[in-house]
Amino acid sequence: MSNQQTLLKKTGYIGRFAPSPTGPLHFGSLLAAVASYLDARSNNGFWLVRMEDLDPPREPSGAADLILQQLSALGLEWDGEVLYQSTRLEAYQQTLQQLQVKNLCYGCDCTRRQIKEMGNVYNGSCRQRSLPAEKEFAVRLKTEAVGIAINDLIQGPYAQNIAQDIGDFVIRRKDGLFAYQLAVVVDDEFQNITHIIRGFDLIDSTPRQIYLQRLLNFSEPDYAHIPIIVNDQGQKLSKQHFAPSINTENAAQLIHRALKFLGQSPPKDMQQQKAQTQLRWAIENWDIQAVPKLATIPDDTLI
Ligand code: GLU
Repeated sequence: MSNQQTLLKKTGYIGRFAPSPTGPLHFGSLLAAVASYLDARSNNGFWLVRMEDLDPPREPSGAADLILQQLSALGLEWDGEVLYQSTRLEAYQQTLQQLQVKNLCYGCDCTRRQIKEMGNVYNGSCRQRSLPAEKEFAVRLKTEAVGIAINDLIQGPYAQNIAQDIGDFVIRRKDGLFAYQLAVVVDDEFQNITHIIRGFDLIDSTPRQIYLQRLLNFSEPDYAHIPIIVNDQGQKLSKQHFAPSINTENAAQLIHRALKFLGQSPPKDMQQQKAQTQLRWAIENWDIQAVPKLATIPDDTLI
């Protein structure tokens, strides 16, 4: 039995925070870390950290270490070893092969522009072309018109018809890198993840992930999507939009602010307490139903 399976047997709950190390944590990614941590700990669960370092050109050196230092400085302690996706390429390759053997994949050389012209739902035009699934082509998964519905623990019901709303989707990119959708599903299964709490920007990826889980006979975790923080132009806080790194010297303030964004109403005087003390209070009092059922929250709401 693997370590993770032993963990699962003990608690029934394994959560995770899975940052892409494209830069240090900003307030938006911190919220996902805090929410997934609190939900795991309040359920006596395990909380794992997985570094989604699948895209080296977008990952400044040292970013992964910096994220881990920031988590530690905030008192967000994870269980076990950090799993680095860069060490998992063989597992992704094996899964891809499994899908290829079932004749569920094909090569595609359509450009971004062509896909935009299709209305961003891939129309399957490369399905019949039998392009070899070699490096210069993207690999797409053949999808069927099945409805996939989730009951998001925060946002409630959410559904998509994969073929109609998404179309055949990329599982290995044209540059040879494995796509997020494939890697995340392989690793959530590998780590026996039972609960996924993350930003709302990923809710529309969830049916694709469930679709893959069903094809591969994997277990299906529960999902919850927290609102994402947006700037005054409605853009997600991200490195791309120059979101500032959090400064862990203000750990107590940051945790207080995160708890308020997550609808947790921490007592006002708790702001004076250390981050760890606040987190202990928040574990005791965590109420996932108090998290706003919204897609976005403007950054300046609580200032
Ligand atoms: N690595 C993804 C990100 O940083 C998150 C993946 C996930 O939580 O499923 O946006």
